[in-house]
Amino acid sequence: MGISTVTAARILRGQTQGATGEETVLEFEKFPDIGLSKTYSNDRQTTDSAATATAMMCGQKTNYHLVGLSDQARAQDCSSEHGNDIPCTFDWFHSDGRSVGVVTTARITHATPACAYAKSASRNWEGDSDMVGVTGGCKDIAYQLINNNSYAKVLLGGGRQFFLSMNDSDPELNHTNSDKQRLDGVDLTQVWKDDKEKNNLSAKYVWNKSQFDAIDPRDTDYILGLFEAGHMQYELDRDNGTNGEPSLAEMTQKAIRVLQKDENGFFLLVEGARIDHAHHDNNAKRSLYEVLAMEDAVKMATKLTDERDTLIIVTADHSHVFNIAGYPERGNDIFGVVSNVGDAIAEDGIPFTTLLYGNGASYDWGNRTNVSAIDTTHKDYLQVAAAPRESETHGGEDVSIYARGPMSHLIHGVHEQHYIAHVITYAACVGENSQRCENQPDTNLNAANSNSLNYLNVICVMICILRLYHVHL
Ligand SMILES: [Zn+2]
Repeated sequence: MGISTVTAARILRGQTQGATGEETVLEFEKFPDIGLSKTYSNDRQTTDSAATATAMMCGQKTNYHLVGLSDQARAQDCSSEHGNDIPCTFDWFHSDGRSVGVVTTARITHATPACAYAKSASRNWEGDSDMVGVTGGCKDIAYQLINNNSYAKVLLGGGRQFFLSMNDSDPELNHTNSDKQRLDGVDLTQVWKDDKEKNNLSAKYVWNKSQFDAIDPRDTDYILGLFEAGHMQYELDRDNGTNGEPSLAEMTQKAIRVLQKDENGFFLLVEGARIDHAHHDNNAKRSLYEVLAMEDAVKMATKLTDERDTLIIVTADHSHVFNIAGYPERGNDIFGVVSNVGDAIAEDGIPFTTLLYGNGASYDWGNRTNVSAIDTTHKDYLQVAAAPRESETHGGEDVSIYARGPMSHLIHGVHEQHYIAHVITYAACVGENSQRCENQPDTNLNAANSNSLNYLNVICVMICILRLYHVHL
């Protein structure tokens, strides 16, 4: 979610409320502190979400496609995982006795959430069906989530296919997703349930909205929700019915209510993942409505938490080649066509839309379509791209960071992306800064009371994202 995406979403939010739009202020734009994040990785000027999320979740820049590994590891090389895994947010917070959770609209094994809890030489090793031919004993990301992170209290997203045995029918599809379900024949959802039962923990595994709605966070301490075989639905297409899916805000609400019961504090990663996916398809309308869904989640988080003890950081892992172009008049439909008059006119006399992409599948191969003759506001309309590519790419410019709560003032300038992880550890007194609160009580913390110094919550809301299917970019 680059700055152009935030600007366009802001205009959209206003226009959905009957205003001209440009003057609208999104919920996270009200946060008191803001900075910029330099998103390049160790080996790429413009990079992918595994490298960028590793920077934010683990505090180090690394290489393209690596999950939770240092830059000494090599992509796709299982042997290079050994000795190069690095501690990340789940490790830090769990070691300090705090609760952790992750909420995403992508497959929960996708690159960004994976960087919070897994170590993998390939972001594409989401299930063992993705690792045929890989030698060296490396474990897939779904396996790691269930077996190495049993302490995680909230796990909500899509990607059920990587957790079910190839021999079992998917409960929603009523057949197997044979290409993707587990070759080892293990039902990881059952492994998760057995572990909780064995330890007498209050736990619920759910896969649709009615089951999710029935969970009372007051008497449930662990939730595993896998609402789609693959990614969850776009907000514009989401089935809100009994067999449908919860919204990002609804998942965030339940996650916070469960995690808030831990008096020691918590870490929650919320990812509005599909902003990125729709951008990769040159589909601006679905992407921008995903931003609005993410704004609703931020609104929910601010409502349920106290800024005296909860740091909320809203940022993105990277930008996209997405532009707001021309000289449209104030209040022009954000999905509309730039008025084809005066200095706004194109050299060939054919109008263009306000929103355009630098590359992608909707390249017009030299035959510019007269967009004034078609409905560019339809959710399936794909904005034109300047260069042909199967999938639109990420952008390399900085993205913004918005922060509210204790130590939010540390977000204040142009920062390296991995600095965000160090702000989290410093604010929460975990990881490398686990001794800080004992040794140097900080009077600037503005906590509700002195005890809060040790019980800080962190909610990191990210807007990022990836390619549909595992061929990412
Ligand atoms: Zn992407």
